[in-house]
Amino acid sequence: MSDVVVAKFGGSSLADSEQFQKVRNIVFGNDKRRYVVPSAPGKRFKKDYKITDLLYLCYEHAKNEISFEDVFKHIEERYKTLALELNVDVDIQSHLEEIKLKIEEGASADYTASRGEYLNGLILAAFLNYEFVDAAEVIKFKHFGTLDMAATEIAVRERLKNIDKAVIPGFYGAIDGKIKTFSRGGSDITGAIIARCTNAELYENWTDVSGFLMADPNIVANPKSIENVTYKELRELSYMGAKVLHEESIFPVRDVGIPINIRNTNRPEDKGTFIVDEQRVQAYGDTITGIAGKKDFVVIAIQKMLMNLEQGFCRKLLTILESNGVSFENMPAGIDSVSLVIEECQVGDKLEIILEEIKRQCNPDTIDVHPNMALIATVGKGMNRTKGVATKIFKSLSEAEVNVRMINQGSSEINVIIGVENEDFENAYRAIYSAFVK
Ligand code: ASP
Repeated sequence: MSDVVVAKFGGSSLADSEQFQKVRNIVFGNDKRRYVVPSAPGKRFKKDYKITDLLYLCYEHAKNEISFEDVFKHIEERYKTLALELNVDVDIQSHLEEIKLKIEEGASADYTASRGEYLNGLILAAFLNYEFVDAAEVIKFKHFGTLDMAATEIAVRERLKNIDKAVIPGFYGAIDGKIKTFSRGGSDITGAIIARCTNAELYENWTDVSGFLMADPNIVANPKSIENVTYKELRELSYMGAKVLHEESIFPVRDVGIPINIRNTNRPEDKGTFIVDEQRVQAYGDTITGIAGKKDFVVIAIQKMLMNLEQGFCRKLLTILESNGVSFENMPAGIDSVSLVIEECQVGDKLEIILEEIKRQCNPDTIDVHPNMALIATVGKGMNRTKGVATKIFKSLSEAEVNVRMINQGSSEINVIIGVENEDFENAYRAIYSAFVK
């Protein structure tokens, strides 16, 4: 590991000049923060626009031969104000003119959207007095659009070899000189790639929350924050909807053991959450790391005598789902029964067809549909080695008079998933939380 910390700042951290000042204080607060990855300016207030959204809108208008003049004015305004208030020596006007012209001439959606990060990178580099390194030079894509990590590693190492401090805009790279972006929120991925390629000791991801909370603050009042979470636990929590970080940003750093620290630009004194390798944290006692949950699932419960002896039964079920374009969340099974737990929005109006096909192809004894179900996942790395975790969960639910309709343990054994009626969801969620957090 080298003496490098890569700091990525999200859109809300760079939404206006006041936020830029905070970013500068943070960067200058640690000499190791040598490589900085910015997003495009985000919202300054709730009803504000994100620059990236406006750029996509310009592209759409231009494509449909509608004037994008007014939308582009908003973008110009934001960058000009930034450059003026920060007093940086960047000829923002000529960059904006060039971008506008290219959009008029039919520039791609990727090129257009990437300019949000590009311009912000230019301004931030000047403001920090760091070198600007265009991501198009170093982040390389393959022909079918996925990241070319090998070529990127070579390019980043070569380009940054003699550069002590640099700003590299997030979200985009290039293929054969043509700009290509990651999916939305992709600056997180750029940050992770730069951390990997510079052998960083830490990848800091600065945003507007102080890391992850143990529970949803809309359900539990003032939940505790999570100090350490493993990559695996994070997956279990994020699959139920707890999202702060782009999912693909984990892979570049996880492979090489670089921890990610989620920090809050508006509260830099908070330590935030560290996302770390399993080896780095000790599994401790009957505590949990977090709770995640979601409402509105439908459970299709299928019973058939001697199901366990019938080869291909589950394959047929899953093929029915696949051919209807439906993915499932969970599939708890007993000896003669199996349930498919599916998000209601996935099923939509396909339920009748799916049931018909199951009856026809699988010939079950009974098939029942339970709508309005909620799932709650309780996640904790210590769970698989600790006695009593399940007892605590179920005791709390029984005391809260919640009827548990389904129980499943993820095969990673760091996760217990329970199904309850939608109307019991909040009650159950709070009961589990208070069983573990005093
Ligand atoms: N600006 C891009 C977006 O809004 C990428 C990012 O912010 O990470 O999706």
